[in-house]
Formats: sequence, structure tokens, C-alpha cells
Amino acid sequence: MSDSHVPEHLPRPVFDGVAPESALVDGWARRIESLRISVTDRCNFRCVYCIPEQDIEWLPKGELATLEELARITRVAVGCGVKKLRVTGGEPLLRKNLPNLIREVAKLPGLEDLALTTNGTELPRLAGALRAAGLERVNVSLDSLDPATFAKLAQRDALADVLAGIDAAEAAGLVPISVNCVVLRGVNDGEAVAFARFARERGFEVRFIEFMPLEHGQRWGTNALVPGHELRARVEQVFPLRPAPDQDPHAPSRDWVFADGAPGRMGFIDSVTAPFCASCNRIRLTADGKLRTCLFSLREHDLLGPMRAGLSDAELADRLRAAVTTKELKHHISDGLFVKPERTMSQIGG
Ligand code: SAM
Ligand code: SF4
Repeated sequence: MSDSHVPEHLPRPVFDGVAPESALVDGWARRIESLRISVTDRCNFRCVYCIPEQDIEWLPKGELATLEELARITRVAVGCGVKKLRVTGGEPLLRKNLPNLIREVAKLPGLEDLALTTNGTELPRLAGALRAAGLERVNVSLDSLDPATFAKLAQRDALADVLAGIDAAEAAGLVPISVNCVVLRGVNDGEAVAFARFARERGFEVRFIEFMPLEHGQRWGTNALVPGHELRARVEQVFPLRPAPDQDPHAPSRDWVFADGAPGRMGFIDSVTAPFCASCNRIRLTADGKLRTCLFSLREHDLLGPMRAGLSDAELADRLRAAVTTKELKHHISDGLFVKPERTMSQIGG
């Protein structure tokens, strides 16, 4: 974007505190304001839709961005207009000294929303320290309320640990809590109403996520996928819903509240059957410092290598802006042009 018509003695125009020439704007005029950073590719679960059970090759430690490097990239991105930060992984709570990163980024002027996505098992140990460091909220992944189904999906018998983690997050004030649930047909799709009841009883937002083709094996397919509208219909047979009045237009989730005014809400992330690419304002950073402009990108933009070779902050901002111009218009899951990325969700950072 050019503001060359502005005489030099006048202040440059700004929008939301960021000068147009600094902002991250893609080739389709979408303004990028949301960054997801992965702090590790490691995980203590083996969710069947996310990570391979065998032959996992973790990134060597030296290839991981340090917490200081992640904080620096975040600071530069926030300077370019990023307002929303999600910390993820792998399992982000396995990253040593994570509260130090949270403390650094929480104080960045311009950052309006700071949250973390976790499987919850380490929350009893870390929720207090994360809250004290400035974390605002957590999204906890929980695919089943039944111990046996949970173990089948996570390949770990850990439902009680995750529920304890949710309690710990609530006690520490990491609220409102969102619960993420990936639904697979024939496995946990019978739990839609049970999850709605859980949302109402606890005052949580439960978000059903459509299964996306980012797993290691060949499990994904239209037989395994449960469309969000089907789950909503099942919930509405028992608990009528109405659209949430405060829907964020850039959020991947379409949110609903209970028509009877009960607490809690339901979200539907229908990435496959109702893609939200047109309003996507998100970029991602992998744990080894590669920028991805889409979850399904086939190319990555290395930031860490050039940073270690001496890039200045201004040059780093230039790289961010250049990478963002290549952001894909949309994913191609349903139009036959789809090519599965090499890295799985756990390696990209979900
Ligand atoms: N380990 C943390 C967790 O599970 O919340 C953070 C990383 S995980 C990759 C982030 C989110 O991606 C989780 O909610 C997970 O359920 C979701 N996810 C992983 N693989 C997926 C897939 N193939 N389709 C849809 N969602 C997926
Ligand atoms: Fe681990 Fe999260 Fe992937 Fe499950 S979804 S394997 S908890 S990274």
C-alpha cells in the first residue's frame, strides 16, 4: 500500500496504531492480525488424527527457536499490526520455561489477546505460573467425556488428567475456557449432546472442529468427517441455539448461545464443509521458526535461519510483509486440487 500522496511534513496515516506501510496485508487485501506460534513439536499424547504413533522424529533441540527468538518474532509481528497471539504445539506446556515467553509477549503494547491451546495435562502444574506471567485464557482439547473413547482418540488413558487440568485453569482464572473437540464419525460423534450439557453446566464454550486432512496416515476421508451442521442439529434437538450476538467475523468458529439463556456456548469450526478462508487473518510460526501463511501451505518462509545470520528487526519485518503477500486465497480440500502438506498438525502447530 502506498501513501506517497501524503506530503512529508504531515504525519503518515495510521490505522489502529499501525502505519499502512508497516501492516501485514496479503495479496487479496486481507489484513493479518492473528499469529499462532508453535513452541514445540513434541507431545505426550498420540491423537489419532494428529500425530503418528511410531517413527516420530522430533525436531533436534538446536533447530528449535529459542524462547527469546520466538519473543522477538512476536514483538516484530505485533509492531506490524498483529493483535492476537495463540501459543500452541505439539503440546506447548512441555516446553521448558514457557512462562518466560508468556511474560515477554504479554507486555507488548498492541497485543490485545493472548491465549494458549493445550491438551491440559500439565495445567495442574503450570496454570498458576502462566496466569501470573500474563496469559489470559486457555483452549483445552477434549475429544470425549467417556474414558474409553478418550483413550481411543488420544491413545492415552488421560481423561481424568485433562479434567483436572481444566479445573486448575479455572481456579487460576484462565477464563473463559474453551474446549476443543475434534469429531470422528463412529468414534465420538454420539457425544454432541453430552458436550452441550457440559458447556451449560460449566459455562464453557465447547467448539466442535471438523476433522482436517493433516494427519499422518490415511484416516481422513468423507466417511470419518462429521459436518458441523449435523452436530448442531443433534444439539438443537435437545438444547435450541441462537447465533451468538458477539460473533467475531475473523474467528474460525461460528458461535451459538443457548436459546433458554443458560450459560456456556457452542462453536462450530467447519473448516472443510464451510471454509472461512475469505475472512482468514491468520499466519503461523512453526517451532523451528518457519512462517506458514496457511495451515495447508505447501511452502514455508524461514525466519530463524536469517535471524541467526544477523537480520535486523526492520529486515525481519520486511520478511514478514513479503511472506504475507504470498498468502493462499483458500484451501482446496473439497475441490480436487488439494495436496496434503508434508508436516502433520502437531508439527505445524494447530
Ligand atoms: N496439543 C495441544 C492440543 O491438543 O490442544 C495443541 C496443539 S493441537 C495440534 C491444536 C488443535 O488442533 C487441537 O485442538 C487438536 O484437536 C486440533 N487438531 C489436530 N489435528 C487435527 C486434525 N487433523 N483436524 C482437526 N483438528 C486437529
Ligand atoms: Fe498432541 Fe494436541 Fe496433536 Fe493431540 S492434538 S497429538 S495433544 S498435539
